[in-house]
Amino acid sequence: MDSILKELQGLNIGKVMQNEPMSSHTTIKIGGPAEIFLEPSSVENLKKAMEIINRFQVNWRAIGRGSNLLVSDKGIDGVVIKLGSGISHLDVSNEEIAVGGGHSLVALSTLISKKGLSGLEFASGIPGSVGGAVYMNAGAHGSDISKILTKAYILFEDGTMEWLTNEQMEFSYRTSILQKKRPGIVVEAVFQLKQGDKESIVAQMLKNKEYRKETQPWNFPCAGSIFRNPLPHYAGRLIEQAGLKGYRIGGAEISEMHGNFIVNAGNGTAADVLALIEHVKETIYKLYHVTMETEVEIIGRK
Ligand SMILES: Cc1cc2nc3c(=O)[nH]c(=O)nc-3n(C[C@H](O)[C@H](O)[C@H](O)COP(=O)(O)OP(=O)(O)OC[C@H]3O[C@@H](n4cnc5c(N)ncnc54)[C@H](O)[C@@H]3O)c2cc1C
Repeated sequence: MDSILKELQGLNIGKVMQNEPMSSHTTIKIGGPAEIFLEPSSVENLKKAMEIINRFQVNWRAIGRGSNLLVSDKGIDGVVIKLGSGISHLDVSNEEIAVGGGHSLVALSTLISKKGLSGLEFASGIPGSVGGAVYMNAGAHGSDISKILTKAYILFEDGTMEWLTNEQMEFSYRTSILQKKRPGIVVEAVFQLKQGDKESIVAQMLKNKEYRKETQPWNFPCAGSIFRNPLPHYAGRLIEQAGLKGYRIGGAEISEMHGNFIVNAGNGTAADVLALIEHVKETIYKLYHVTMETEVEIIGRK
């Protein structure tokens, strides 16, 4: 890894760090070191980095704001590429907006609401990046990214860049094509919004925010919903019915406020969270014969 590290550091393409603790880059504040951690300062520099990564044939993983990640205590091999402020441009043209993959979704929805554009109200409490939201088809309050995305500009492993249309993204419940068939990095997303009434947009966002404050553990580090809803059931409801709220292993605890949230109640480790996930899966299967699948992405060394 030394030679790729030197090459990346020699190019002046942004922040390049070795053994960077991932606990500083995840909302649950858990995760061991990334062998190499890179935050490119522009799309051009991201492309240069990808060429090098591809040449060295090392593992890579794009991240945004780490709000859907559980990173192993042992860390991650290869290169973690964080899309942040270097890739967060925003162009608004009437009802269409083009936004960089590293832009914060919360900040974007606030900015857009002030322009009286409607469509992103659902995203005001989702603490991810635009790229992470496209990858996950993030959603809430009856809407999701697939309802507003026209196209996304993707950088693929081989260095090629391509616009994928909404249909080509193959969105469904919390998934997109990028999760399985075609790994790539969302560099830009184009959203089609609608001119609306500024006051009612802002009011709706406030309402959504209050609902979250009442129902989700906003005062503890967490990674959002741990399980996908095993439709027609709701994961949170099954966990609550099973009496698991408040159940704790080490520093990881099933939130008292919402059954589908595991919080880091203090010095929690990935091992604690994983043990708790297993406990929930086993209990729910035993009680209801329902198989629970994680929504949070579990990554890093085994
Ligand atoms: C308190 C809280 C509330 C939440 N509420 C919701 C909610 O209501 N609805 C919802 O859908 N989610 C919710 N989440 C989960 C999370 O915010 C979303 O899944 C979000 O879209 C993840 O974005 P991120 O930038 O944090 O991605 P990360 O956690 O950094 O990464 C998640 C996945 O996306 C990939 N990824 C990240 N950036 C890119 C990119 N630029 N290109 C390609 N792949 C990329 C990563 O490789 C990883 O596989 C919540 C999380 C928290 C902590």
